[in-house]
Amino acid sequence: EKMVYFYGGGIAEGSAKLKNLLGGKGANLAEMAKMGLPVPAGFTITTEVCDYYWKHNKTFPETLEAEVEAALERLEKVSGKKFGDKDNPLLVSVRSGAAVSMPGMMDTILNLGLNDETVEALAKNTGNPRFAYDAYRRFIQMFGDVALGIPHHDFEEALNEVKAEKGVKSDIELEAEDFKKVVELYKEIYKKAGKEFPQDPKKQLWIAIEAVFGSWMNDRAIKYRAINGIKEGELLGTAVNVVMMVFGNMGEDSGTGVCFTRDPNTGEKVKYGEYLPNAQGEDVVAGIRTPYPLEKLNEIMPDVYKELIDIMDRLEHHYKDMQDIEFTVEKGKLYFLQTRTGKRTAKAAVKIAVDLVKEGLIDKATAVMRVTPDQIDKLLHPAFDENEVKKSQEIGEGLPASPGAATGKVVFNADEAEELAKEGTPVILVRPETSPEDVGGMNAAEGILTATGGMTSHAAVVARGMGKPAIVGAEEIVIDEKAKEFTARGVTVKDGDWISIDGTTGKVYLGKIKTIKPLGLEGEVAELLEYADDIRVLGVRANADIPRDANVARNFGAEGIGLCRTEHMFFEGDRIQKMRRMIVSKTVEQREAALAELLPLQKEDFKGLFEAMEGFPVTIRLLDPPLHEFLPNDEEQMKELAPQLGITVEELKEIVENLHEFNPMMGHRGVRLAITYPEVAVMQTKAIILAAIEMVKEGKKVKPEIMIPLVGTVNELKYLDKIVRETADKLIEEAGIDLDYKVGTMIEVPRGAITADEIAEVAEFFSFGTNDLTQMTLGFSRDDYGKFINDYIEKGIYEKDPFKHVDQTGVGRMVKIAKDYGRSVNPELKLGVCGEHGGDPESIEFFHKTQLDYVSCSPYRVPIARLAAAQAAV
Ligand code: ADP
Ligand code: MG
Ligand code: MG
Repeated sequence: EKMVYFYGGGIAEGSAKLKNLLGGKGANLAEMAKMGLPVPAGFTITTEVCDYYWKHNKTFPETLEAEVEAALERLEKVSGKKFGDKDNPLLVSVRSGAAVSMPGMMDTILNLGLNDETVEALAKNTGNPRFAYDAYRRFIQMFGDVALGIPHHDFEEALNEVKAEKGVKSDIELEAEDFKKVVELYKEIYKKAGKEFPQDPKKQLWIAIEAVFGSWMNDRAIKYRAINGIKEGELLGTAVNVVMMVFGNMGEDSGTGVCFTRDPNTGEKVKYGEYLPNAQGEDVVAGIRTPYPLEKLNEIMPDVYKELIDIMDRLEHHYKDMQDIEFTVEKGKLYFLQTRTGKRTAKAAVKIAVDLVKEGLIDKATAVMRVTPDQIDKLLHPAFDENEVKKSQEIGEGLPASPGAATGKVVFNADEAEELAKEGTPVILVRPETSPEDVGGMNAAEGILTATGGMTSHAAVVARGMGKPAIVGAEEIVIDEKAKEFTARGVTVKDGDWISIDGTTGKVYLGKIKTIKPLGLEGEVAELLEYADDIRVLGVRANADIPRDANVARNFGAEGIGLCRTEHMFFEGDRIQKMRRMIVSKTVEQREAALAELLPLQKEDFKGLFEAMEGFPVTIRLLDPPLHEFLPNDEEQMKELAPQLGITVEELKEIVENLHEFNPMMGHRGVRLAITYPEVAVMQTKAIILAAIEMVKEGKKVKPEIMIPLVGTVNELKYLDKIVRETADKLIEEAGIDLDYKVGTMIEVPRGAITADEIAEVAEFFSFGTNDLTQMTLGFSRDDYGKFINDYIEKGIYEKDPFKHVDQTGVGRMVKIAKDYGRSVNPELKLGVCGEHGGDPESIEFFHKTQLDYVSCSPYRVPIARLAAAQAAV
């Protein structure tokens, strides 16, 4: 098996297709070389070697060394330089890069190949000893830190010592002699740490290669994978890229930058990026110096700028997606060091996907796959209430690195952020800058605020990927980490104080600010979801109980209501009293009288739902919860209520006691209520049908669907079906109009699912109530399972929370059986899902595969479900 892939001198053994084997970085370097772009030559050691390394007690395959030697020779030929040569030394970087981009997660070593001899050659050949010794000390520092684990601040301290001695503040002011001193101090640090700095470049190389493979299993890499849902074993590992060095720090005609082919914040089709003259790539990413906007390069070197822009366009066309590109200019010559699919905000993801369809670069199905359901969710997420913002005190401003609004308590370190967030406290992580060690805390925080760094600094890139609001480079903010406070515009904010940050505007405010949800879908989001509608097979309905929610759902594109929980209507205003009067009735006559008062109110509600749904089906479930939920429990309330209901306190107490159940979830509820009190079902049917009749008379379309909950045997359904149909048909006949309605059932009791063939003889539709179906199939009480589910997940007994993602093996099989049995009797049987799972992308994919007709979810999840359903169909 080939383990090393070479590229350079106009050829490349690898290509973008070999991403799994070469990692994203290596595959794209090969691809760029193939395209004839200026890429410094190099070679990639495959991810398979990483896999081997970890599986074989940290050793390498025997033939690896020979392959690396051969590649190194080719690199020497192409570059005209020689590794370790006293006159013309080859210097390389050793870079990590897995198939999935993990920005800053693993370690890169630059300037490898320098030693006491080659540094002299570099000084002589470049005529720039200052540069050479700076490169050397950087290498010793990085090598010590990354490969040998010598604390990085030891080196920083030594560097600061030399600066202090000379009385200067910045590295720029140091000269060759000073860096020589730094090199000597650095070597001392190695000695103190009991390590040796290897002078032999080959030794350096192998230690570095091993360090990169080793970094695959370091804490922050493991954490990053966990946060991003990458399972252990899903990737082979990281590749190692050995790349000839090019230098951005050789003077003012050199520099380094990062650029995006489109704006990663807004998705706007404008080139976007940052440029730092006379610097190496690391300086930008680390957020140590604040770079210029990309256009600065146009002022300094217009020809280079033009070439850069041209190649950016070529790369975007080639990859058919927005690219995030690293480049370096060495003495006026442009080099590309990396290209990858750019991380972007949710808003940008949508805009770019839609724009690329319009530009003819991708088709609609591809566009739909480019946006995650989570990103759509984020777009419907909070912004600050503008009125509240006006009243708030602004205490600083920085770069708007990642949009969205966040409010929380200030914390100054990542570990504390994680701890507080675990307790449910919202926090804003405030740091001078962030590093990969902070990723856990960033993920736990509501938002991130840094004092230094640019739009492509670690904090900015990671926050955007996480969809967290972030402000970076807020230089007004002066942080005192020891005292755990910061000062900004004369205000001192202490650890634990509330602040609010707006990642869209870059503004920082004192105190809490209320956030609000944006309502509608507009522009490109609406367009993308129309693409999704063209593609998806699964229908999407909403669970909505009142006209307001139904309207929201309709605006979000719901094609009907899959579940209206009628009991919610009984809690509105003084209706609860009428409901209670119904419950405490002693005779059927009394009960009917109370119901007669509820009927017109329900009828109006249903009209509102029909109105909002504009002729789409509206599924209305008959009364479901146990009756005790409508009555008070404590003495005081009972004393107050009894006279209002015209009964004594004792009588009321007795009723409440009688209604008490040991296990209400399996008690007198659902269809069982209607078996005892058919007059309730009659009233609700009347309200539904009368509302529908009025709609028809007004010339509007309606599709009422009456749904009987909790059916476990066809006999329950037969009993109710007869009552409902007789009531409905009589009213329709009296009205003298045509009206179609359906009567169906929920499948949520296991017995109902496995006798679905019998039930389908009567029901016109099934709606899977997967909440109750999960509860009863697993035997997990929804109200109690929270106490033990984490143990189950930790011990791998259930992989996921079965109430969040449908348990495909068990509950899913129940759904399949019911579907097959049901359709075997009635091929026209309509099948939907109305549990929480109807809004969960993973479950939606399963329901699509199971060939159900629709899912129904909460109004705010309708857009997510539309996209997820389309993705399931691609
Ligand atoms: P990361 O994945 O963290 O971005 P990289 O391997 O891309 O790590 O390298 C870190 C920085 O060093 C980047 O800015 C990159 O452009 C720069 N760099 C890497 N290799 C070279 C090289 N051969 N010559 C010049 N700069 C390099
Ligand atoms: Mg990089
Ligand atoms: Mg139910």
